[in-house]
Amino acid sequence: MNSKNPSIACTVSSCKFHSSSEDYCALQKIQVGTHESDPTMIECTDCQSFEKK
Ligand code: SF4
Repeated sequence: MNSKNPSIACTVSSCKFHSSSEDYCALQKIQVGTHESDPTMIECTDCQSFEKK
């Protein structure tokens, strides 16, 4: 089971860095980015630290 970083809340339980017991990330830091050239809404942003469990 991963420990949790209380500063990074996350519900993506299929990520291998997810704290399986609670909705937090276990990493010390994450990279957030975008796949759009001109991001305008939440859906345009991504956690680029995601890796499939
Ligand atoms: S790396 Fe990103 S997607 Fe994965 S648990 Fe952490 S915040 Fe969530």
